[in-house]
Order: sequence, then structure tokens, then C-alpha cells
Amino acid sequence: MKPSEPVAAVKTPTDCRACGACCFSPSENYVRVTGEDWARLGDEAGRVARFFNHRAFMRMIDGHCAALVVKPGMHGARDYFCSVYDRRPHVCRALERGSPECAAELVTKGQAVAMRQPAGADFMESIPSE
Ligand code: SF4
Ligand code: SF4
Repeated sequence: MKPSEPVAAVKTPTDCRACGACCFSPSENYVRVTGEDWARLGDEAGRVARFFNHRAFMRMIDGHCAALVVKPGMHGARDYFCSVYDRRPHVCRALERGSPECAAELVTKGQAVAMRQPAGADFMESIPSE
């Protein structure tokens, strides 16, 4: 995004389940999982998170968090569903729809995620690294 580009120009989806942009990244260490987060994840922790250099992160699969479930939605759209929503890490809870951080996610990834079919090298390269 150019510095002069107004973030307000980004149209915020009315429902995160129609977007999912902030759950995508080419980085393997994208979503930090703190000790508190790990405890909250409970018996799901081993499935969706893993340790790297003494720090824990959500696992990444096909360019998105392993906890994200992508299903066909209405009229060719997709439904993005967090399978650990009630137990999701703090960093996910802090990112509110409609916030400047959400707008930045939409600007950098929104189009690439919406056009993604299926995940592949071209898609991964179209998303900037964090
Ligand atoms: S918080 Fe923003 S970027 Fe994340 S899924 Fe919701 S609308 Fe998309
Ligand atoms: S834990 Fe849920 S909200 Fe957070 S990145 Fe993964 S799928 Fe998205």
C-alpha cells in the first residue's frame, strides 16, 4: 500500500466468514501462540500449533492457519471458519473487524485470498511476507 492511499477506501466485509484474509500468510511463524494461548487451546493445541525455537505458533497449511476451515459458500463464494474460535490465540482476538489492522490485512491480502483457487505458488507469492 502506498503511504498516501487512504485505508478508509477499503470496503470491510460485513462478516469475517466471507473474508478470512487475516488467517493467511506465507510465513510459517505467522500466528504467535503464548503459553496462555496454548493452555486455552487445550486438547486442540497439538493439532493446530507447534513449537519453533522455543516459541509456539499456529501451524500453517496451504498458506493459511491450520485452524481455518474453508468451505464452499453461497453463489460461488467461500465460507472461512475458525475451528478454534472460542480458543483462538490472543493476537487473533485483538484483530477486530473494521480496525486499521483489519484494513491493512484487506489491502495486502484481500484480493489474493478472494481470487485463490486453489492455493499454490502463484498465490503464495502474491501475498507479502510479514
Ligand atoms: S478481521 Fe478483517 S481481515 Fe480478518 S477476516 Fe475479518 S474482515 Fe477479514
Ligand atoms: S486461530 Fe482462527 S482466527 Fe486465528 S489465524 Fe487461525 S483460523 Fe484465523
